[in-house]
Amino acid sequence: MRSVIRVFSYLRHYPGLATSQLCCAVGMTLAVFIFPNATGHVIDHIIPNPEKHGEFLRWIALAAVGFLAKDGLNSLRIFINNIFEQKVIYDIRSDLYSKIQRLPLRWFDTRRTGDIMTRVVEDVTNMERVLIDGIEQGLVAALQVLGVGAFLFYLNPTVAAWATLPVPLLAISAAIYSTKGRDRYRNQRDASSDLNALLHDNISGIRQIKAYAAETEELDRFNRFSDQLRRANLRIMKWWALYSPGMSFLRMTGYVLVLCFGGYAAMKGELSQGDLVKFLLFLSLFYEPIDRLNSLNQMVLSGKAAADRVFQILDSESEKNAIEGTKLPAKIQGRVVFDAVSFSYQDQPTLNEVSLEVQPGQTIALVGPTGAGKTTVLSLLARFYETTSGTITLDGHDIAGLSKESLRDNLAYVTQEAFLFNGTVRENLLLSKRDATDEQLWTALEASHAAHFVRELPKQLDTNVGERGVKLSGGEKQRLSIARALLKNAPILLLDEATASVDSQTERLIQDALDRLMENRTAFVIAHRLSTIRNADRIYVLDQGRVIEQGTHDELLALHGKYAELCKKSFLGQEPEQIA
Ligand code: ADP
Repeated sequence: MRSVIRVFSYLRHYPGLATSQLCCAVGMTLAVFIFPNATGHVIDHIIPNPEKHGEFLRWIALAAVGFLAKDGLNSLRIFINNIFEQKVIYDIRSDLYSKIQRLPLRWFDTRRTGDIMTRVVEDVTNMERVLIDGIEQGLVAALQVLGVGAFLFYLNPTVAAWATLPVPLLAISAAIYSTKGRDRYRNQRDASSDLNALLHDNISGIRQIKAYAAETEELDRFNRFSDQLRRANLRIMKWWALYSPGMSFLRMTGYVLVLCFGGYAAMKGELSQGDLVKFLLFLSLFYEPIDRLNSLNQMVLSGKAAADRVFQILDSESEKNAIEGTKLPAKIQGRVVFDAVSFSYQDQPTLNEVSLEVQPGQTIALVGPTGAGKTTVLSLLARFYETTSGTITLDGHDIAGLSKESLRDNLAYVTQEAFLFNGTVRENLLLSKRDATDEQLWTALEASHAAHFVRELPKQLDTNVGERGVKLSGGEKQRLSIARALLKNAPILLLDEATASVDSQTERLIQDALDRLMENRTAFVIAHRLSTIRNADRIYVLDQGRVIEQGTHDELLALHGKYAELCKKSFLGQEPEQIA
């Protein structure tokens, strides 16, 4: 119920629309009374007196006006409701996306992309059902039940009591169905999410699936998840197939009771024939909205299951100090110190008392086997994660107290796999400097040796690069991501060198671009190329989350330790004469 109330709390921003809708609903409910009253009057007072011909036409006209008013107001109400509901849905989606952007990376580590997408797209739409049907139908239906119910008792309390006898049974059945139905709807939303997550994963990895000829296995896996959704849906439908006709039968007993006790009262002369017909007409106006409320119950259940999933995201804890926190001065020097920093993603420690230091303008290279914790060092400096113990300082400021926005404004991160968004070259570059002019873009592209190929693209800066930049080669993507970092012109550079091999000409261009990028900046480089390592001011060798050796290339080779061993293994093919 809390989620439903929370969904409704979004409505308070639009009091004007809510009130107009309410007025239309009340007007409609009043208009509903006109036809049965006119019918009763015609049967009892006009049909027995044919001379009242003029009056007859007036009552017929009144009945028609009643329907015109009802449907006219209904049209207006639907119109207002659509605007209202779309505004609210927009607000919820916007809140949700804004929240998702503020969630820490740790949150994303444990979520599937397809599941998050299902929540933002499908679940918000399902919540919308609570709004459309909750307000639009629920309000009108509830008003009509109350209004017509009261009128039935006014017409004839005894017959009305018999007529409404099934109502408590209907209410109890609806309550049982709602309570028991919660799990069914939750399962259905989860099954839909699982299917979307699998689909998203498989489509992202379609090249791998084709390369390993795993289509049949993946189809089986897809069908398994699809079957879960089928069964979850069937479970809901099966119960509905029992519940809906059952409720209809209960409602119909009300009519039978009126026919019985109303007919009996009419025979005794306690109720006129007109009043009996009027009563039956009103009874249909009483039970018809109950039927709508019943269908609504199903939608509210489904909407509630969806709302729970949406609110789970909205209630997750946001990143700390995203905007708040100390701001760095406009110009920083770029001295970074890691002091006994430890960190773990889950239970196992990933970094263990790592200490390292880099002076302004220096480059340090992080080397070590895969899984040693090199990327984690960069992630902690960017505060994608918070350290478990130890401190990281930037120009003497503990970064834990800094505003993340201010910290990240001073960092440029070039990841190993150059990620480009599905947009134009220009849009991808502007990500790092929103107000960059075309001239600045071209300067950055020239410096990163990307200008040449961008000029050859069909629409140059306005060429779409495709999802994840699929329309560009690996080397081109790398150079664009270097251009993006150059454009940002941040004093600290975090660079995870790409390992994917490119031809030697491209390799030279990339190396040259990287050298320019590192010029006059404090640089942390996860180095894979010997030339980068040799040029670094200091090399830190990491193994199993610890710094095990540090020094310059020559110093470390002289140690004949892990570094020398790594060099022999990794770089023999590159420049053998330079390995001691
Ligand atoms: P490197 O960059 O040296 O290859 P990483 O810093 O990426 O190493 O990873 C260090 C360890 O942390 C590895 O054992 C890896 O499996 C683990 N790890 C990395 N990222 C995550 C994550 N997001 N969640 C859980 N464990 C992770």
